[in-house]
Amino acid sequence: MSQTTTAADIQSRLQTINDEIAKAAGYAMLSETPTPTLIAVSKLQDDSTIEAALEAGLRTFGENRVQEAESRWQDRRSQYDDLTLHLIGGLQTNKADDAVKLFDVIESVDRIKLADKIKQASDKLGKKPAVYIQVNTGGEEQKAGVSLDELEALIAHVRAIDLDLQGLMCIPPKDDDASLHFALLKKLAKQHGLSKLSMGMSADYALASSMGATSIRVGSALLGERPKKAD
Ligand SMILES: *Cc1c(COP(=O)(O)O)cnc(C)c1O
Repeated sequence: MSQTTTAADIQSRLQTINDEIAKAAGYAMLSETPTPTLIAVSKLQDDSTIEAALEAGLRTFGENRVQEAESRWQDRRSQYDDLTLHLIGGLQTNKADDAVKLFDVIESVDRIKLADKIKQASDKLGKKPAVYIQVNTGGEEQKAGVSLDELEALIAHVRAIDLDLQGLMCIPPKDDDASLHFALLKKLAKQHGLSKLSMGMSADYALASSMGATSIRVGSALLGERPKKAD
């Protein structure tokens, strides 16, 4: 059985994370490096852990599935008016309406058709989420994200249809040196005049923040190991 996670547990992990970020920034001697926004990745976590996270003061959360996120956050939206929800997982076009309804930031835009659906949903609902483009920096077959070859055309399209494009996101290949991917993402963002960089997870958030991440997506290092999926 896993232990119950308390608000105090989360607060102490939060302290560790902030210390690691400060240390990494010090090593990099990057006084101009922004302190990244911490996105608490709440996917698959128990209700009690979510409550503990809220009690610990966390308000920015990341989820990778629309339906799961709805069941976790729809009701809490009315309790907490200062929540910010990021969609960080792949989005199917038929869930675009639901995604636009629930999320403030959609980080996983990776194809023109999906951008168009988000635009339609956004017009229909009168709600304009910020969007990031997910880049498949490792060129991995199975992975979501636009290829490097198609990035420029996608950025142009997303801008042409007037979505609120703010930045880029990546998930480096498991066995690669993540710093190569973070450096590439930063270079691409700069090239295209985008200011937001979503990169770094539990294993490498300090590295990512020292390389200019404006947000880091931390799950297990903050909220504890995720319970195994029931199905
Ligand atoms: C699950 C997930 C995370 C968090 O993973 P941890 O290793 O638990 O920090 C970050 N980003 C994405 C896209 C995820 O799906």
